Amino acid sequence: MGLKKRIEKYAKQVNCKLSIARKRVRYFDKLEKRIEQASICPKCGKSSLNIESDDREYVFDSWVQCTNDRVPYVEDGEVYFTDCDYTADVEDKYIPLSFGYGYDIVLSFAANGRVDEEMLGESWESFVLADTEMLLKEAI
Ligand SMILES: [Zn+2]
Repeated sequence: MGLKKRIEKYAKQVNCKLSIARKRVRYFDKLEKRIEQASICPKCGKSSLNIESDDREYVFDSWVQCTNDRVPYVEDGEVYFTDCDYTADVEDKYIPLSFGYGYDIVLSFAANGRVDEEMLGESWESFVLADTEMLLKEAI
């Protein structure tokens, strides 16, 4: 689907102006690209890096790990698959991978039909506008 079509569809789904839909679609496209780039594993080259974490015993630890478990290797003339197992420390460049980053709350509310102006405490229009302004302030 072309960009123009996607913007029109988004505006319809979310019930907002085309100018707002354009900003939001472009923002999430850019974000998706950033996540894609951040997820490329330097060892196997696949877009399969994830942020893993462990919060057992009151110690919160997180790291970057490759989830590719289809790395081929040959043993006795047969091809097997193994885990890539690449891990790294969480650095700034991996921030786009963190859970919830770039979550489109507006689209999610609209898709669930959970548009309750009383719950939002404001009109849908101003909620969408405020969320869009907040997204555009984030440096991506
Ligand atoms: Zn890998």
